[in-house]
Amino acid sequence: MQLSDPQLYRQQAYINGNWTDAGAQSVIDVKNPATGESIGSIPNLGRVETVNAIASAEAAWPAWRAKTGKERGLILRRWYDLVMTHIDDLAMIITLENGKPLEEARGEVLYAASFLDWFSEEARRHYGDVIPQTKGDQRLFAIRQPVGVCGAIIAWNFPCTLVTRKVAPALAAGCTVVLRPASQTPLSALALAELAERAGVPAGVFNVITGDARAIGAELTANETVRKITFTGSTPIGRLLMQQAAPTVKRLSLELGGNAPFIVFEDADVEKAVDALMVSKFRNAGQTCVCANRVFVHDSVYEEFARRVTEKVLDMKVGNGLESDVSIGPLIDEAGVEKVSELVEDAIGKGARLLAGGKRHALGGGFYEPTVLADVGQDMDVASEEIFGPVVTLFRFESEDDVIERANSVETGLAGYFFSRDASRVWRVAEALEVGIVGVNTGMFSNEVGPFGGVKQSGFGREGSRYGLDDFSDLKYICLGDVN
Ligand code: NAP
Repeated sequence: MQLSDPQLYRQQAYINGNWTDAGAQSVIDVKNPATGESIGSIPNLGRVETVNAIASAEAAWPAWRAKTGKERGLILRRWYDLVMTHIDDLAMIITLENGKPLEEARGEVLYAASFLDWFSEEARRHYGDVIPQTKGDQRLFAIRQPVGVCGAIIAWNFPCTLVTRKVAPALAAGCTVVLRPASQTPLSALALAELAERAGVPAGVFNVITGDARAIGAELTANETVRKITFTGSTPIGRLLMQQAAPTVKRLSLELGGNAPFIVFEDADVEKAVDALMVSKFRNAGQTCVCANRVFVHDSVYEEFARRVTEKVLDMKVGNGLESDVSIGPLIDEAGVEKVSELVEDAIGKGARLLAGGKRHALGGGFYEPTVLADVGQDMDVASEEIFGPVVTLFRFESEDDVIERANSVETGLAGYFFSRDASRVWRVAEALEVGIVGVNTGMFSNEVGPFGGVKQSGFGREGSRYGLDDFSDLKYICLGDVN
């Protein structure tokens, strides 16, 4: 591996401005999912070190919150500039630890950087309100104040983005953060911490702790100093963190699993819908929370849609993300491949028609063939479970009412997509889908300006956008009396 700035390849935790492995009884190996080879290690830290990191964040908070929004924004801006300067190194680190193709990893760094850019500006626009009084001698105000020390826990599928999407708004709002990255992809978060330090983020304001998920999670949720938990990951772990945070009544933002419907109506532009599905489905080898999970296609365009998707899927090149022309990398680990295999076998066993792929790739390891399944039914596991792999499942439908009912028949509600050229239907369906994000005639909606988040068991809270600061601030009402 060649980084133009080898200093970005950090393999220690970052606590109170120090790179440290003090307290580690062991290390956790970080592996390249494309080769299975070790690419480094991180200290396996636990409860005591988490307590220390929280104490650092608490000590750093008064000075950080006392800065003006503009001052905090300028530091975030410098961090953004440094991320952009080191985009190639950061992309390389993402590909090495996550497996996604290098070009896609570059796209992720741009996306991650956009949150630093956006919140560097939003920091100075964190407005409150002047409220018209109900008594003549009173004046009423609502002001925004930072919630305090935040604990952040993130998944491995967007190793850079999940950091900045949480840390940028938290810091902009005047909070301090203790972040625990996923064990499989800690190196991107540590590289970002190195750049944060260079940008002038003061010691203790942003801490990265690596190690034992349960011990660190238990302390972050139980510790009274931590006033907020922001989590991106699976719904089961989200539920657990919610329970653990209940005794201290912490604020929570939960970005959890999805099971996105992707609906192609009879009046859709089929070609555009196929292209959009490829974008939505195969990013990160199908391991995104907003991935099209259930593709519902109207009976009248079903076979055409299936044929076109299959042609494109058979054209995809699977391989190590560092090689050129590779469009799809490996899954993150053996458990991921196992889960995808089981879902595909279950569907085929219950009568699904295999149009492409359907098994582990000849490259072995974490590689799975991009797969298309037709004639998928509601009785198959893929109808209710998040696939998290490169598998297109084609369901057939005949009426709008029926497809909306089926689209909404799952516990989660993160994203939904549909394709139609009927303006009334566009509004009707966009309003009817029980999700937090709707893509209409597009397979890609993620950016820093739109509010990202779910409903139902996909969680709550919104990241990015002008609403993003709200999750990291408390609203305080001030009633000023005796005004003559
Ligand atoms: P996961 O098992 O919930 O893990 C997510 C993070 O939580 C990891 O850092 C993990 O640590 C940590 N963790 C595990 N057990 C914990 C515990 N007891 N206490 C505290 N932390 C704990 O999720 P995953 O399967 O790796 O990630 C994929 C899931 O994330 C999918 O469901 C996907 O939809 C969801 N996701 C949602 C969004 C969104 O914005 N809504 C975005 C991306 C992903 P280890 O790494 O050590 O296991």
